Amino acid sequence: MATTFIKIDRESIRNNPNAGRASTIVAGPVEVSFELKGPVGIPPDWKDMVIVTEENWSDTQYLVKGILKNPDHQETFIKALATVGEYKIDNNRDIVEIKHMPEPTLLYNYQNTTVECSSCHSHIIWKAIQEEETPDGESLYETCPVCGEFDTFDYELEKIEDVTKRENNS
Ligand SMILES: [Zn+2]
Repeated sequence: MATTFIKIDRESIRNNPNAGRASTIVAGPVEVSFELKGPVGIPPDWKDMVIVTEENWSDTQYLVKGILKNPDHQETFIKALATVGEYKIDNNRDIVEIKHMPEPTLLYNYQNTTVECSSCHSHIIWKAIQEEETPDGESLYETCPVCGEFDTFDYELEKIEDVTKRENNS
């Protein structure tokens, strides 16, 4: 069976507005911090739930500051806090700059070409071919969505460099 060549859709080629950009700003994780004033402090069985960053005793009550380990548990945590004293909750979210490879100059899509499975001979749109990681994470393999066989597709994706070269020469 011959290799199926999957061409870039010429109409889809467009300039990337972020060409050359090598970092992106994203929202970081939410951090839920709290302050608690009360006669008992943080109950010992909450240690799995919170990180205590400060604990002071003044006259009749504890003053505790800390961070909730799992921000998703905020609602439950607030209910629990209310049972042990006066509290304050803060949600903070930092922004994080992620460095990455410079973004390409051009964006493009491939044509919806089908590729034949060498095992069951189904014709599958190449985008529907599932790529999975081996358990050790070292390599990738493809699975046929019809028969489930591994690596039964033989195709090659056109390279954008080849398209632009050809068009500059003509
Ligand atoms: Zn198949």
